[in-house]
Amino acid sequence: MGQYVLPDLPYDYSALEPHISAQIMQLHHDKHHAAYVKGANTALEQLAEARTKNDFGKIALLQRALAFHVSGHVMHSLFWQNMKPKAGGQPSGDLGAAVTRDFGNFDAFRAQLNQAAATIMGSGWGALCWDPVGKRLFTTQIYDHQSNTAMGSVPLMVIDAWEHAWYLQYQTDKVKFFESLWNLWNWDDISARFRSASTLALGLDRAASA
Ligand code: MN
Repeated sequence: MGQYVLPDLPYDYSALEPHISAQIMQLHHDKHHAAYVKGANTALEQLAEARTKNDFGKIALLQRALAFHVSGHVMHSLFWQNMKPKAGGQPSGDLGAAVTRDFGNFDAFRAQLNQAAATIMGSGWGALCWDPVGKRLFTTQIYDHQSNTAMGSVPLMVIDAWEHAWYLQYQTDKVKFFESLWNLWNWDDISARFRSASTLALGLDRAASA
């Protein structure tokens, strides 16, 4: 059975400087992300053990651990690929058109996503998601790694708003961190995710008007 694994960063630790320091990237990937991978595999093992023993006394804890750690793994894996050195600008093509259609214009989208990230109470993420039911883009404000999401939606572009993502470099100015990320967004990656998510069919066509 497949295990979750920590993917290598697609660039060097220092590649995203000055926007994200090499120290943050190393700790964030090698320690924090790695811990979610380990936690996800541990939760699966403990669920298998519970089935073997037919002892589900800790099932609620295990389900919460599974959701938390798998989501932490997915979100960090996305975050690394969503960025690249010397990037930024605006999306073009189908994604650019969809942003304009669903948010009015790029600047409104950028402001909305930054505000979603900046106003999280506690730890969480801001995200651009594709809703395959309404067939639209929307932003979400995710608590921890997995809560406060719309079921069925697919994250395309994510902003890590946990303190571990920025505190060593930005201290109390997390808004500056969120702004600086717009120099790093890899629109080729995000556009490819958009194209792929756009083909997802949940079989709920009667749940929204065309
Ligand atoms: Mn993180």
